Amino acid sequence: MIYLDNNATTPLDPEVLEAMLPVLKTHYGNASSKSHALGWYAAELVQIAREQVAELINAKPDEIIFTSGATESNNMALKGFLSKDPALLTALSSNIEHRSILEPLEFLHSEGLELNLTKVDSVGLLSPTLHNELEELNPNFITLMLVNNEIGSIQNLAPIFKKARAMKIVTHSDATQAIGKIPVDVNQLEVDLLSLSAHKIYGPKGVGALYKNKNLREFTPLIHGGGQEQNLRSGTLNVAGIVGFGKACEIAKKRLESDANSLKELSELFLKTLKEIFSDFQINGSLEKRIPGNLNLILKGIDSAKLSAALSTKIAFSTSSACQSNSSKPSHVLKALGLSIKDKKSSIRIGLGRFTSSAEVIEAAKIFGEQANRTEAKLSKS
Ligand code: PMP
Repeated sequence: MIYLDNNATTPLDPEVLEAMLPVLKTHYGNASSKSHALGWYAAELVQIAREQVAELINAKPDEIIFTSGATESNNMALKGFLSKDPALLTALSSNIEHRSILEPLEFLHSEGLELNLTKVDSVGLLSPTLHNELEELNPNFITLMLVNNEIGSIQNLAPIFKKARAMKIVTHSDATQAIGKIPVDVNQLEVDLLSLSAHKIYGPKGVGALYKNKNLREFTPLIHGGGQEQNLRSGTLNVAGIVGFGKACEIAKKRLESDANSLKELSELFLKTLKEIFSDFQINGSLEKRIPGNLNLILKGIDSAKLSAALSTKIAFSTSSACQSNSSKPSHVLKALGLSIKDKKSSIRIGLGRFTSSAEVIEAAKIFGEQANRTEAKLSKS
C-alpha cells in the first residue's frame, strides 16, 4: 500500500515512538500526583514537551494548553469566547474552514451569534484587503485557518491579526495543517489563540494544543474538573501522547526546510510522471501559496469515487477531506472555489509526507494515470 494521505494523518516518526515507549512502559505516573517521584517525573516530561511545542511556534511554555487534538482546541477557543451572551457577539470566519470550526460556529449562530463568513477567491485565498474591512464588519472574534486541509492554501493572516489586535478583537487561527510545513510564529502573526494537532506532524493521534497568548483574558473552559492546564482543560494528562507531540515538534522544527524541499521535489515528480500518462488534469487551489506535499487535482472526466474504489488496497488517498468522509456531501471547500459539479466529482487529494519515497511517487502516479485512462473510471453521463 502506498500512503498518500498525509493531510488526513501521518505515520508516527520512529523517533517519536522511541520517545513515547518508556512513558508507556515505565513512567506511568499521573503528572498531577504531587506526593511521589513517579508523579514528579511525569510532570517533568510534560514540561519538556510543553517547551518543545512552544518552541515550534515561538510561544512561551505556559501559553500551551494540551488538549485531545485540534477539534477540541477549535471548540475550546470558539465556545470559550463566544458561548456567553452569543446574541451580543459577532464572529468573522471564512467559508473554507474545517468542520471543527464551522460546526461550532453554526451551533453558536443558532444560539444568536452573528456570523460573517467571508468568501475566498477561485484559488482559495482570502481577499488581500480583508484587514481594511474590519472596521465596517466590526467583529468581536476572528477565526481564520492558516492553511487549508484540502487544497493546502496558505493565507496571509498577519495584516488581519495586526489590525485586529489594534482594534482589541480576539483572534484565533487553526494552524493544524501549517505547523511543520511552514514557519509559524505567534508573535509575528500577532494571533491570540492557535490550534495545533500532533497527528499531522508525525506525532500520535488524540493529542493537540491550544496556544493562548499570556495577555489574553481568561475564557470559559469546555471541560471542568480537576483543574489541569491552568484550570482551562481538566482531565488527567495524556503523558505519553504529550511526550510524542513534543518530540514531533522538535523534529518538525529541525526538519522544516529539508522536509519542505523534499516534498516540493516529490510533488513535481508526481505531476511530471502523471502527465506522461494522463495529461488532462488541473490543480485546485493556488500553486504558489500552498504547503509543500499537498496536491488537489481535477482528473478531467474521471469519477474519483470509482478511482478510489479501484485503488483502495493499492494507494491511500482521499476524494474529500477525511473528516468529511462520513458524509456523502461534496466538499464545501471545492464548492467555495466555484468548481462545477463534474469537476468536484473528479477531484482527488494527495498528501505526500516525510516517509514517501520517490519510487512510491513514480509508481503511484503511473497507477493513477493508467487507471484514469480506463473507460470504467470515467464519470457516467447522467
Ligand atoms: N483543523 C484542520 C485544518 C484539520 O485538518 C484537522 C484534521 N483533519 C482538524 C482541524 C482536526 O484535528 P484533530 O484530528 O486533531 O481533531
